[in-house]
Amino acid sequence: MYEQVPARVEVAPENTLAAHPTKQFDAIIIGAGLGGLLSAAHLLQRGKQVLLVERLPHSGGRFTAKNLHGVQVSTGAVHMVPFGSSGVLSHMLRRLNVPHRLYDADVFGSFHVHGRQYRSRGLLGVAKFLGPAQFRQFMRLGYVMFFQKLPDQQRQMPFDLWLERQIDVRRNPQLVAFFASISRFALSLELHQVSTAEVIRTTKNMFRYGAPAIVAGGCGELTRQLTQLVQSYNGEIFLSCEVLEILQEQNKVTGVRIKHKVTGAEEVLRAPLVVSDIGPRATTGLLENRRVRQAEVLKQKYADDHTFNDTAADDVQEAVGLKVHILSDISLIPHKGIMYCLDTKRIAGMVQPTNSDPSLAPAGKHLLISHQVIQSNNVEEERALALADLRFMFGAAFDQHCQILTMGTYRGEWPVNRVAQGEDVEPQLDVQGLYLVGDAVKPSGYLMVEGVAQSVNNFLDLLDDLDQQQSVAHKMDRRLRRNVMLPPSRLNALRWLWKAPGNSGKS
Ligand SMILES: Cc1cc2nc3c(=O)[nH]c(=O)nc-3n(C[C@H](O)[C@H](O)[C@H](O)COP(=O)(O)OP(=O)(O)OC[C@H]3O[C@@H](n4cnc5c(N)ncnc54)[C@H](O)[C@@H]3O)c2cc1C
Repeated sequence: MYEQVPARVEVAPENTLAAHPTKQFDAIIIGAGLGGLLSAAHLLQRGKQVLLVERLPHSGGRFTAKNLHGVQVSTGAVHMVPFGSSGVLSHMLRRLNVPHRLYDADVFGSFHVHGRQYRSRGLLGVAKFLGPAQFRQFMRLGYVMFFQKLPDQQRQMPFDLWLERQIDVRRNPQLVAFFASISRFALSLELHQVSTAEVIRTTKNMFRYGAPAIVAGGCGELTRQLTQLVQSYNGEIFLSCEVLEILQEQNKVTGVRIKHKVTGAEEVLRAPLVVSDIGPRATTGLLENRRVRQAEVLKQKYADDHTFNDTAADDVQEAVGLKVHILSDISLIPHKGIMYCLDTKRIAGMVQPTNSDPSLAPAGKHLLISHQVIQSNNVEEERALALADLRFMFGAAFDQHCQILTMGTYRGEWPVNRVAQGEDVEPQLDVQGLYLVGDAVKPSGYLMVEGVAQSVNNFLDLLDDLDQQQSVAHKMDRRLRRNVMLPPSRLNALRWLWKAPGNSGKS
């Protein structure tokens, strides 16, 4: 990896770029987040010459971690992969031969409700805290969501409204809280911010694939392995290097203009294929030779009328959150899955990843990570409510046994999702040779890094479609064509009734 200008390129004294020889690649990838790294690995395996450009001094974006006092403190993800060892990301890592291990959850989850925690091995376990009347409604909703076709006029309906039509929400408060906390933890969205079709599609996929999993070594380890793979194929990674502009001629992408942050030197790099892992807003900015700044994104001031495939970039709504890393002497969560919080003021869910991999924290200590949606503009209040929730759940032990390591908000240019679930944009842009991957391009029903991996599959399918010869072959055998992974059988969902499916019982 490089933090300096690579030796092969001379830098002109006064940035006389036009007169300067430029370096040529088959593909340039903007951003070495998970989407960028996965795209690079695939293109390199296809024999392309690839350059990854990352503005930070490290790769991984929101899916890596820093070591803080022996604890793996993540830059975004809570070390968790939503569909676990049966999911799209895991499948892709196996296809790429990336060494990794995923510890699937051993439960459907636990639920903090009525002031205590209820552990639920499978779906039927929720009866313990719902009681018979709400459990009947739960089973009925499950049937409607899984086995009945959603009428067209209900597809775009906000999920909270749909729920109101299905059940008496005042008589089923824990059932409503159940859906709200899962949506807040998994999507970082309130129920009124997500469409019914998207909730149903995502829920189906969650049950068709498998239990969520903690990554062995944490998300930093996965990023390290992927970075190594890219380097083993002689892929180049320019770190501390920012793309300032995406270059195009006659509506075809021709390369990028970059700035090495350490030296301040600028250079032009050429490629007929540019893959952007930085979302639609920032990508539009680079096409217009304009950087999108944090403040600009926060104020949602993006008022220009530029469109991608008819999707207005200024309509883009991101998912925002607040995450707390806690180091504790005592264990709060007695399993490897998610504890959903139904009776808290803000925290929607927590994980204790050291239950799966104790090496994520010093010996004898537990790492816990909580997540919540930011519900107001008052960040101080949001933080105070998170602390109050932690005191409520740990009880008196909190002040004595727990240490807050970090408490951070995720929004602006570093959100939970660049585009809210279900609002994602198309991967192909109007400029030929320019594609988007990452968490703004998640196909419907695929959340978080499963969506990032599936977005890369989508991009590969588009590339394959371009290849004339392959297209002919693919017409003969459709199975060869698709990189996009199809969901497993609907019957898989039945496995969840009694226990979480996955590798948790296997060594
Ligand atoms: C608090 C939080 C909790 C989460 N929890 C989970 C979880 O448990 N499980 C899960 O699956 N997902 C989780 N996610 C989501 C997950 O982290 C993201 O979906 C995923 O990491 C996004 O990857 P990406 O490649 O799309 O984008 P990024 O990781 O953001 O990568 C983009 C990269 O581009 C770089 N970049 C930006 N602009 C430029 C430029 N001009 N030039 C060069 N480089 C540039 C950035 O520095 C960044 O490294 C969480 C996210 C957050 C914030």
